[in-house]
Amino acid sequence: MEHALIYKDYNEALKDNRILGVKCAACGTVTTPPKMVCPKCAGTDLSVYELKAEGKIKTFTTVFVAAEGREDEVPYVIVIVELEEGPWIMGNLGEIDPADAGMDLIGQPVKMMEVRVFPGDPYAGDGARPVFCLSA
Ligand SMILES: [Zn+2]
Repeated sequence: MEHALIYKDYNEALKDNRILGVKCAACGTVTTPPKMVCPKCAGTDLSVYELKAEGKIKTFTTVFVAAEGREDEVPYVIVIVELEEGPWIMGNLGEIDPADAGMDLIGQPVKMMEVRVFPGDPYAGDGARPVFCLSA
């Protein structure tokens, strides 16, 4: 089976501030990060689709104990964002004092402001992660 969009190309586009996914020709579902089959109807007729990089915060967590290599960043806020097209994506929340991160963040509109690249594994290369900011 041929992939419409492989993870490596998704990651490279993200480094260029673009969120790519795939759109199902059968049902219109948009998925990101890309998958081989549509998660809704299992369709395989998928094409590359660029998402608007805007959405709403579904949940968040404030990190005080960093993963290896990110010790200098703590504390920081990680958000799960429901993009306008439907898929959920993880990113950082910028332009906020982590001490001010509270339950009122849930449901707030956000947009992607930049992408930061973190050291990755030898197969996928460096991992790019979107940084969102509140847009309201
Ligand atoms: Zn589908």
